[in-house]
Amino acid sequence: MATTVSKRDYYEVLGVPKDATGTQIKKAYRKLALKHHPDQNPGDGEAEARFKEASEAYAALSDDEKRERYDSYGHAGLEGAGGPDMESVFESFGFGGGLFEGLFGGGRRRRSGSRGGASLQMEFEVDFMDAVKGASKSATFDRQEPCLECHGSGAEKGSKPVSCDTCGGRGAVLQSTGFFQIQTSCPSCQGKGTVIKALCNPCHGEGRVPRKREVSVDIPAGIEDGMRLRLAGEGEPGSSGAPAGDLFLVVRVKEHEFFQRQDDHVLLEVPISFTQAALGASIEVPTIHGRDSLKIKSGTQSGSLFSIKGQGIPNVRSGRNGDQIVRVAVEVPKKLTKRQEELLREYAETEEVNVTPERKSFFDKIKSYFEG
Ligand SMILES: [Zn+2]
Ligand SMILES: [Zn+2]
Repeated sequence: MATTVSKRDYYEVLGVPKDATGTQIKKAYRKLALKHHPDQNPGDGEAEARFKEASEAYAALSDDEKRERYDSYGHAGLEGAGGPDMESVFESFGFGGGLFEGLFGGGRRRRSGSRGGASLQMEFEVDFMDAVKGASKSATFDRQEPCLECHGSGAEKGSKPVSCDTCGGRGAVLQSTGFFQIQTSCPSCQGKGTVIKALCNPCHGEGRVPRKREVSVDIPAGIEDGMRLRLAGEGEPGSSGAPAGDLFLVVRVKEHEFFQRQDDHVLLEVPISFTQAALGASIEVPTIHGRDSLKIKSGTQSGSLFSIKGQGIPNVRSGRNGDQIVRVAVEVPKKLTKRQEELLREYAETEEVNVTPERKSFFDKIKSYFEG
């Protein structure tokens, strides 16, 4: 915050006489705060300065001890004493939510009187190949944005939130229970201190409305399921010029029809014939980068693994490719031509193993079952 060379008199700032009562001071401040509130005047530096000035003046004059020091010694009387405690002012003033939610409501308060927007997080589905090779996609989501109709006040166009009658704008009420008095949040205004007589229609008095937003997302090559992408400033807007929150996308990578990922390697199961397995072969296999050929050596067993170096997934950080690992599955033919059967029977003889001597018909098999 810039240091002001000459500070205006606090009474002058609030426009009240030197002998103003606490109620007069509070009223004056409330009026100024509503008028110059940054939410009401987005991007208006002058209004923001007025708002801060009024808040500071109110902080000093609403505290009996500080007011006395100010009356005796002027601005110097409050220096070194930590200055007016803005945060406690906001709290004591009973600004809970609604119009002032962004400034004083839940969450972390900042001395500057503004608050960053909330960050959002959502799941983001990505195709296997897009995750592996990288892509530019778009994401659509809803985020709360200030209502254009009421500029965030929640009050119907042409009206403003007014001080709550029940609590006199304090946001809290005292309840007597026997000897004790308990301070509770005002039931009429839910602790806000203000009530809206006529609600703004588009936002139903919330001051914010959900709006669809589409952003383009650069998916880095090699991103893994469960990783988060951060889109800075794409969360909900902050109040009074404070930075917006971020949007976090939790990446969900869809399964591929036949490629599987393991670390930076791609696993692929490829069927080969039993003759290819027995005699060896050069087969063509798909990789995520295109086609490649793979040498199957003779005598390969079903389930054997072959590695194709560098044909895997680029590491999302180092960019170095993993491998493709091919698992072969030896397939036994379900149907043989007459010629194929002849050859196989001949081959079986050389093996000296017992094979079914001939093909029986279904009825022959049934018969032998009952006879046997
Ligand atoms: Zn509205
Ligand atoms: Zn109230």
